Amino acid sequence: MNIGILALQGAFIEHAAMLEHLGIAHFEIRQLHDLNQPLDGLILPGGESTTMAKLLHDLNLFTPLQTAIRNGLPVLGTCAGLILLAAQVEGGKPCFGTMDICARRNAYGRQLGSFHVRENFQGIGQIPMTFIRAPYIKAIGNKANGLAQVNGRIVAARQDNQLVTAFHPELDKSPAVHEYFLDIVQGFMQKAVS
Ligand code: GLN
Repeated sequence: MNIGILALQGAFIEHAAMLEHLGIAHFEIRQLHDLNQPLDGLILPGGESTTMAKLLHDLNLFTPLQTAIRNGLPVLGTCAGLILLAAQVEGGKPCFGTMDICARRNAYGRQLGSFHVRENFQGIGQIPMTFIRAPYIKAIGNKANGLAQVNGRIVAARQDNQLVTAFHPELDKSPAVHEYFLDIVQGFMQKAVS
């Protein structure tokens, strides 16, 4: 298994550290030629979604990655990564637009933008959740399922091989969300060989 982490900007090092801890091979995606190696799963980290979207286009990474996601490549989008996958972004333009959710950016306001809670994640149980100028999922379509809520707002969802969290699982000690994602990757790889 080989996981690519989009490393244009933002919190990609923390995802790499988590995969390192779990003993999973991974590499950084910075340029088109980075996609020449086997890619079984993709992580879109937190950061600034508008900057990442611009760089994805400038570096010609947008189309190959969007095509791969559409073809079922497992993807974990955290925070800004959630925004990149959303089919609708309130007051803004979607980027990959592959997931049937509407994201509200900076949804908790500037003052209360960062906080930490423990909440239930469907299929995992209680986990720590760290929010940093986070979005939430304002609306969810038929194709996606909400997996976690904080204060009545949906903060995690899954649609087939796409998994998103408004919080930053890579910043907490619990590897549970990454393990959940790696199970999706495992399933995808098994399907590919059978
Ligand atoms: N507010 C950022 C955005 O809209 C996301 C914040 C984050 O990823 N920590 O892109």
